Amino acid sequence: MIMSITVKLPDGTAKDYPAGVTPREIAEDIGPGLARQALAALVNGLPVDLSRPLRESADVKILTPRDEEALHIFRHSSAHLLAAAVTKLFPDAKYGVGPPIEGGFFYDFAVEHPFTPEDLEKIEKKMKELSKEKIRFEREEIPKSEAIAKFETLGQDFKEELVEEKGGDVVSCYRLGPFYDFCEGPHVPDSGVIKAIKVLGSSAAYWKGNEANAPMQRIYATTFYDKKSLAEHLKRLEEAKKRDHRKLGKELGLFVIRPEAPGQVFWLPKGLRVVNGLMEYMRAKLDARGYQEIKTPLIMNVDVWRRSGHLDHYKENMYFVESEDTEAGLKPMNCPGAAMVYESSLRSYRELPLRLSEFGHCHRYERSGVLSGLTRVRAFVQDDAHIYCTLEQIESEIVALIDLTVEVYGDFGFEGVKVELSTRPESSIGSEEQWEAAEAALQRALESTGTEFKVNPGDGAFYGPKIDFHVQDAIGRTHQCATIQVDFVQAERFDLHYAAEDGTRKRPVLIHRAILGSIERFMAILIEHTAGAFPIWLAPVQVVMLPISEKHHEYAARVAGHLRDEGIRVEVDDRNEKIGRKIRDAQLQKVPFMLVAGDKETEAETVAVRNRKDGDEGASELSAFIERIHRLVRDKALSP
Ligand SMILES: [Zn+2]
Ligand SMILES: [Zn+2]
Repeated sequence: MIMSITVKLPDGTAKDYPAGVTPREIAEDIGPGLARQALAALVNGLPVDLSRPLRESADVKILTPRDEEALHIFRHSSAHLLAAAVTKLFPDAKYGVGPPIEGGFFYDFAVEHPFTPEDLEKIEKKMKELSKEKIRFEREEIPKSEAIAKFETLGQDFKEELVEEKGGDVVSCYRLGPFYDFCEGPHVPDSGVIKAIKVLGSSAAYWKGNEANAPMQRIYATTFYDKKSLAEHLKRLEEAKKRDHRKLGKELGLFVIRPEAPGQVFWLPKGLRVVNGLMEYMRAKLDARGYQEIKTPLIMNVDVWRRSGHLDHYKENMYFVESEDTEAGLKPMNCPGAAMVYESSLRSYRELPLRLSEFGHCHRYERSGVLSGLTRVRAFVQDDAHIYCTLEQIESEIVALIDLTVEVYGDFGFEGVKVELSTRPESSIGSEEQWEAAEAALQRALESTGTEFKVNPGDGAFYGPKIDFHVQDAIGRTHQCATIQVDFVQAERFDLHYAAEDGTRKRPVLIHRAILGSIERFMAILIEHTAGAFPIWLAPVQVVMLPISEKHHEYAARVAGHLRDEGIRVEVDDRNEKIGRKIRDAQLQKVPFMLVAGDKETEAETVAVRNRKDGDEGASELSAFIERIHRLVRDKALSP
């Protein structure tokens, strides 16, 4: 007699099937439309192949392109297709790992020669051919020793190593035609599902990301469910390339990074003007919210870092210096400095919450291979603050921080703020009770502000849980910026206390938080978000005077003088160039306003206004123009 099992579907209906039924058969039973769309299934929340027989009663959800969980499986399957194409064209290639990443996937290969652009074209073509062949993904479960022998025969050392490292007696492997891979799965049913394919490029990599290991070639690619979505994605990538902050940073004269100081930024005058603008902006916000600004040393004795826990948990990311026979560490975080400021006087409950802000200059070691523009650096300034408060004040402080963050991101025109709550990681300090109390306080604050959030289990810092904010930029990419972090540990480590109302000594609770995050990284995001066209209140040059010929130089200089007296950042382009060229250059520099000065303007003492967005506006009285600039700056207008 065949046993029957009960399958519960997402809509709550339950149905009995013979044991051994597959998700595909269930999908077919529900309807041919669903069966056609089906890519994989969730069985009791775990992803499985459509062909996996079900032995016991379970909750089953059929995944189609409409389900978020399906994309990972789709891209992961696409990585197998990429490797199948590569090994077909380059039979000697040894394959490593190939995970999905944001916007696509990659696969690493050890090959004799780096892939050329022509190779990549051939690989894309081969992927498309293999897609047309509708090759099935076939799962097999075999003893570990058999898998090792199999990969040895295939000459696939990396896979052999991975199988060896994996525990358990039985391992799962997948076949895609002749391509054989060690993989947990699941996958889409066959290669025919993957139709919209683009190989994006390749770069150097190392086995397991370690420079001491074998060099590899990483091929980046992406796939979409349909050609239209792929085309849209490629267009976005093109736009992102145009907006690349490293490219714009050079063109707009904002910053340079040199081999003499890897991962550190030389801010040029225009770039620093924007950086200072950001800091002035944040200071005004913080002044209005009762913060007090401090500045603490960059280099402190190692005892400080021992006490803070950084030597135990963060040493490999720190820089150390020696002088007068003492070892000292460059601060990777500003927290211990703030603790010492707290300690500088006897604190009373009346002073709490004590909000100490600092534009803190931090140094953190990053491998040279991962450094990139302003986004991955070794030295950066955080718009940091440490809020010392009582247990009861945590929630209201966090509510205020959520409001501040949302307000700041709104001022820059970022949309779609997403929030994540990260909880206790494996390596951590602090007791169970402390962690639970901290996590609960963050959760309550998020709920009371009506903020939607996602929980990232185990993703917190070693000293406390945190809330991260992700914002969406003008071309739809998301970036992580603000962080709010509760810390029940530091006050104990640094023996901080305050005189409570009842006369006893109590420990304050600490909240670390940064709103912009690192100024360097925020600059990268802002440059790409605005394509270098900073809002006028931040623009390094707000107005450029364009005299038509030499006889208008004097008038242009006089107008510039007026503007400067009004606190407006102005430049005069008195090069011996045609006016058309001057306009084009000012436009490329994304200067919000251009004032053309010719005979007519000189005579009438007016200015001919152009703005970078809409071009020619016609003549304006100088006083009216000045008033307008002041108003745009005051309103933090996003465009002229
Ligand atoms: Zn796989
Ligand atoms: Zn801190």
